[in-house]
Formats: sequence, C-alpha cells, structure tokens
Amino acid sequence: MVISFRTKAIIGIALIEALLLSILIVSVLSFLRDSNQQQLLRHAKTTTSTFAAMSADAIISHDLDRLQSSSISLCHNPGIVFVRIIDEQQRILIQTGSTEALQAPFVITADLNQATSNVFNASQVIEAGGINYGSVQIGFDISYLEATLSKAEHWSLGIAGLEMLLVALFSMTLGGYLTKQIAQFTQGAEDISRGDIGKQLRVRGRDEIAQATKAFNRMSLAIKKSHDSLEDQVKAQTAELKQANQKLQNLLGEQSTLLDNQSVGIATVQDRKILWCNPAFINMLGYDNLQELLGCSTRQFYLHEADFINMAQAYQALPDKEILRRDFEFVRKDGRAIWVDLNGSRLPIEHQSLWVIVEVTARVEAQTALHRSEIKFRALFESTSEAIFLLDTHGLADCNQAALKIFGCQSKQQFCTITAADLSAPIQPCGNDSTLLLKQKFALAQQQGSLRFDWLCKRLDTGEFFPAEVLLSLVQYDGQTQLLASVWDMSERVAMMQEIEQQAKTDYLTGLCNRRAFIAFAERELEHARRYQKSLAILAIDIDFFKKINDSYGHSVGDLTLQKFAAVCHEVLRESDLLGRIGGEEFAILLPETDAHQAQETSERLRKCLSECRVTLPDTAISVHFTVSIGITLFAGGTTDIDDLLNRADSALYQAKNNGRDQVVMGSL
Ligand code: GH3
Ligand code: MG
Ligand code: MG
Repeated sequence: MVISFRTKAIIGIALIEALLLSILIVSVLSFLRDSNQQQLLRHAKTTTSTFAAMSADAIISHDLDRLQSSSISLCHNPGIVFVRIIDEQQRILIQTGSTEALQAPFVITADLNQATSNVFNASQVIEAGGINYGSVQIGFDISYLEATLSKAEHWSLGIAGLEMLLVALFSMTLGGYLTKQIAQFTQGAEDISRGDIGKQLRVRGRDEIAQATKAFNRMSLAIKKSHDSLEDQVKAQTAELKQANQKLQNLLGEQSTLLDNQSVGIATVQDRKILWCNPAFINMLGYDNLQELLGCSTRQFYLHEADFINMAQAYQALPDKEILRRDFEFVRKDGRAIWVDLNGSRLPIEHQSLWVIVEVTARVEAQTALHRSEIKFRALFESTSEAIFLLDTHGLADCNQAALKIFGCQSKQQFCTITAADLSAPIQPCGNDSTLLLKQKFALAQQQGSLRFDWLCKRLDTGEFFPAEVLLSLVQYDGQTQLLASVWDMSERVAMMQEIEQQAKTDYLTGLCNRRAFIAFAERELEHARRYQKSLAILAIDIDFFKKINDSYGHSVGDLTLQKFAAVCHEVLRESDLLGRIGGEEFAILLPETDAHQAQETSERLRKCLSECRVTLPDTAISVHFTVSIGITLFAGGTTDIDDLLNRADSALYQAKNNGRDQVVMGSL
C-alpha cells in the first residue's frame, strides 16, 4: 500500500500535535487543579481561623445566639456547606447547613482528593488565653472545582481539536503544494526519460522549491547539451563506422580479386603440403583443379632439389612476421620450367604458412639478356678509342679506359671525383667561361636528346689543353636519365688541318707566303694602315736573268737560289714585314708603317745584301751570284687596293729592269 506524502505529512504532524497537546492539557489541568486546591485550602484555613477567633468571645460567654447567627451568616456564603461549633468536650453547640453533610461523619483529609463527597472538611480550635474552648468545623463545597476543571477540560479539548484541525488543514495544504511540486518534478523526469530532453519546468516564487525547479531546469539543459554532444559523437562515429565498413567491403572485394588474380598465385601450406591455393596458383603451375594439388608436397614444384632443401633451412631461420622472398625455378605439371618470385611467411596457425608466387620468367630472361648485353656493351665500351663517361647530377660517373688515357687520369675512382669543368680549359676558344658554357651545353643536350660540339679539353696529369669533339647523348642508365659523353681527341686532326691550311698559304719551296696568302695578309695590313692613317710600302722584286741560272746550273740550283733569296730577305727584314712569293722568281714585300725614305733605304739594303750573297752548291766549289731589281710603291691614304699597289710596284720594277737591273726604283704615286 502506498501512503501519499500528503497523508504521511498529515499523520506525522497530527501525531506530534496530539502528543504535544496532550502534554499541554494534562499539565494545564493539573496546574489548575493544584492551584484551585491550594486556593481552597488557604480559603478554608483563613475562614476557619477567622470564624474560630470570632466565635471565641461568644463561646466563652456562652452566647449561643450569637454563635447561631454568625454560623448561619457564614453558612450563607456560597461554597460553605455546613458550619458546626463544638465545645471542648466535643459536644455540638451549634450546627447549621446541609443536613446530608451534617449527618456525614466529619473526617479531616490532607487534600481535596481524599474528600469522600463533594465536601472538604476543615476544623480550627477555639482558644483564648491558652485555654481550649472547643473548635469550629466547616464544610466547604468542592463540587464547583470539579465543574471548573471539567469546563477547562472541555475547552482545552475543544481548542486542541480546533488546532489539530487547523494544523491538519495546513499540513494538507503544504503537503498538497509539495506533492504538486514533486509531481511536477516527477512529470519532468518522466518527460526527459521519454525523450523530451531539455524539458523546462515552470518556476513559481522564490522559495526552495523554486530554487530546486531552477536547478532541475539547469540539469535538464545540461542533460540536453550532453545528449546533443553525445548524439553528434554517435552520428560522427556512425559515419566513421560506415566509412570503415565501406573500406572493409572494398578491401574484401580487393582481396577477393587479388586471390583470383591470374598473375598472383596464393597457397597455404602445412608441413610443406598444399592446404589450399587460388586459381592463379593452379594455372601458373599448369594443373587443372584444386583437388590435384591438395595435400601435394611442395617438393614437386622445385626444379632443383637443392632449392627445396635450402628453402627449408631458410624458412626455419625465418623470424615471425617476416617475409622470405626468393626467385626459384619451378617446374609445371607439363614439365616446362618457369621462374617464380616466391614470398613466404608464417601464419599464426601452427605449422602453417602462406606462399605467394608471381611468375617472373620474362623478367629473369630479360635480366639474363640484359646481363649479356651489358657484358657486350662493357667490352665495346672499354675497347673503343674515344673517351666515354657518364654525367649524372653529382658529376662524372663511370668511364672507360680511353677516357683515363685521353684525360691523363690514373683511375676510375679518381675520375669519378672530378667534374666536367675539371676536364676543360678554363676559357674556351670563343672566349667564354667553360663552366657557364658547359651548363648551356648540358641543358641543350637534355632538351634535344643529343648535342655535338667542339671543346677545348684539359689533361689532368699535365694540365695541357687539347681540342676535342664531344657528343652528349641522353641515356637511361640505372633507372635514371643520364648524359653519356663521348669525347674524341682532335689534337692530331687539328694539327693536320692546321698544316694543310698552312700549306695552302705557303710556298712549299721557300716557305714564304704564296700569292693568295700574301694578298690576303696585305689587304689586312692595308686596311689597318687606312684606318689608322699609317703609311706602308710595297716592294716588287724580281731576280735578274734567272733563266740563265737555271740554264747554267740546272733547275735545282735555281731552286736553291730561290731559297737563298728567301733566307736573306728574312735576315734583312723586320719581323713585322711581310714577304711573299708572287710568281716563279718574283716576290713582293709589304713594309708596314714605312715611308718613302725608309722603303728606299730598306730596298737598297736588301738589294745589296742579295747581291753580296752566294749560293753554294754542295759537293762543288761553285757559288752562284745573283742580283735583283726592286720597284717600290707607297700607300699614303686613299681608296687604292693591293692589286693597284702591286701593279704600281710592278711598274717601278719594270723601270728598274729597263734601267739595267740590280737597282731600286721608287714608283710614282
Ligand atoms: P729578267 O732579268 O728579265 O727577269 O730575266 P729572266 O731570265 O729572269 O726572265 P724571266 O723572269 O722571264 O724568267 C723567269 C724564269 O724563271 C723562267 C722559269 O723557267 C724560271 N722559273 C720559274 N719558276 C721557277 C722555279 O720554281 N724554279 C726554277 N729553277 N726556275 C723557275
Ligand atoms: Mg727575272
Ligand atoms: Mg721574272
């Protein structure tokens, strides 16, 4: 049975109230009773004492009338039931009052409670001068006391009842109010539990209930907040879970695809016997179905028995969670050998392992072919006469023997520590810095795929420079794009070219410039003289009667004479003077920065020296003497060219010849 809070409050308060009121009523009534008794006792004593004193004279004088009248008069007092006066011998002198009371035995009691009827007996000795004359006996009515007490009891009970009623009403109201508030809390809590998170109760007043309601509302909001946060978390976690689930599905899909993949064979093995394998494994080894392989020893797959044994040892030494990986030659059911890349690892189940095989026959064959071709390439690389080396991002890499020889390097190790700039002259013939140029060349080669150019290289041992032709080619090597440099030493070819070039310019017999070279050099000098307003002189020289020398001594002596002529000219002329063989025994000389006087003087000196020289013939005592005729012309500005000047010099020479030879003639301008 559920007793409501209101009932409990009413019962509790009523019990307490009843207890307290009972104590109060009993105490008050008891006090009232005691107080009335005391008052009556004092009243009885006073009355009896006063009456005894009043009666003393009358009794001494035996004035019974007076006693009678005073007794009657006393008896008329309300509350006095009877009055009796007795003498010293206990004889009744006077008695008046209620007959019933007078007939009752006169018993004196200590308190009112002991009174037998509603009369309280009191007595007082009548004495005068120490003599006992008798006593007065008065009966007091105590019935009013009981009535008063009874009335008081009735009033008390009435008041108590009223108070209890009021208290009950208050308790009921308070209990009702509290119950209502509690019911509100209960409803709120139930609403929250049903999902009405954040439920707010109405706050009334400012009392403790209002405070509790506010606290409830705060708690409800806090629950809502935490619920919302929890809900968000749950949503986020649900989304994550969904994603993870999707990933798992994808992974399972991938795994399934992987297991059925035609290029990856997978098998589980226990004690070196097949437990399970995927279709790719079956196909790779040429079997028809899984049943053929279940329980088979893996020994039958190895082409070489030694591999099977070695594999057992390697597997024994394999730590957990690590993968054993090797290439093996397997044999298919049809007897064909294939290369497989075998990956093995332990499974958590005892004696079981997982093996993944990928056929790599093509790769192994390609590697073998590559190895062979590398050997061939290496042989070619090392046997070629041109320097070949690799340039990677760090500098020079591998090089051949020819490179070491051409660049004067002691070893490949040393070669690989230097840079391309170390193999170059600091400045190239074009005048540019080699390091900068190299950067441009490398960039261009990488852009175009290859680049051929001339380069002035440097030997590492002697520091000598040598011309070379370089071919840069972009190649794939070691998985990287690198530049392969081929360098041909062009020293010999350049020397040869220079010689050919020199020969083209030089007269083979005398070593002097030939006509073409002389004119070319002379034009340059003329241009220089014109630009800087300098003078120059051109001399035309012809050996006199040369035909006679040939005729007299032979052609070879004629040749010796020509060589002698050249030698003497070199001795007499300045370094800067230009001497050329223009024709058979005709020569031209260009004297830079030379005026007419100087030209005349030089020509005379030359003519004199030549006429004094002798051509001695070997093994004979013959010495040949010859003279020359010289025509001079001068350049002192203007637009004239070399041909003009040569023609003018020829004219002067012609004059010299005509004038008798062995002389110098200054041509007219
Ligand atoms: P002149 O004083 O008028 O010059 O008389 P010359 O005999 O010198 O006449 P000319 O200049 O016509 O003769 C040139 C000769 O030089 C003709 C030719 O045979 C000869 N000769 C030309 N070239 C060579 C050569 O390379 N070697 C030899 N030995 N003789 C040459
Ligand atoms: Mg001549
Ligand atoms: Mg001549």
